[in-house]
Amino acid sequence: MVTASCLCGAVKFELAKAPEFVVVCHCSRCRKVGSSAFVMTRKENLNLLSGADQIGQVATDDQFSLPRCFCRSCGTALGEILSTEDVFPISAHCLDEDLNLEVRLHEHVATKPSWYVIGDDAKQFDGDPK
Ligand SMILES: [Zn+2]
Ligand SMILES: [Zn+2]
Repeated sequence: MVTASCLCGAVKFELAKAPEFVVVCHCSRCRKVGSSAFVMTRKENLNLLSGADQIGQVATDDQFSLPRCFCRSCGTALGEILSTEDVFPISAHCLDEDLNLEVRLHEHVATKPSWYVIGDDAKQFDGDPK
């Protein structure tokens, strides 16, 4: 079981199956919300332990309207933890332990800021991975 939480500890959840890799998204939306590195989880593997009433959501624009979630008390980005999709991203920074994960891919590299220098050999995609 993998445990995860926000900074203040109000929101805690666990993943029944450990994520296998990290994806880094370089789009401006992920950057603004402070959550560019994420792991994917299947909905049935995620168990919200506490803080359901602390989770706020913000929708971005039409094309990327999937609401991003955050802790209302500390602001930690939580990814799409309230998603109704089968598979969705969770912010990698929520993981409590270092799982020795490697970055599998970088997406939206075309809008990467100059100060972020990619230092691994993971695959890069200008936009969404094909
Ligand atoms: Zn919090
Ligand atoms: Zn993004």
